Amino acid sequence: MSLYARAVRHAWRMAGVLALSVLLVLTTDRFYGHSSLAFAGAIIMLLIANAPMLRFNCPRCGKNAFFRGPFVVPWPNRSCNRCGLDLDTPPPSQNR
Ligand SMILES: [Zn+2]
Repeated sequence: MSLYARAVRHAWRMAGVLALSVLLVLTTDRFYGHSSLAFAGAIIMLLIANAPMLRFNCPRCGKNAFFRGPFVVPWPNRSCNRCGLDLDTPPPSQNR
């Protein structure tokens, strides 16, 4: 599986966790009133879920696929925007 494909899978999982966090905060807000604890919980959940994002680095130059210049984007780059390596081709060493 290519780095891009794995990064896309991670992006979808993040979207799911984000939706869940919003739901958690809204539900808590609705039934218990405003709760900063639920908000903090949602943030922590997002941070933990997003930690693997830092592993999606270009195998040639190490540039993270989720960074476009200094900006972090929720969707990965199909090709490295520093060295131009195509991230959508599976690495030859990964014959599984
Ligand atoms: Zn690169």
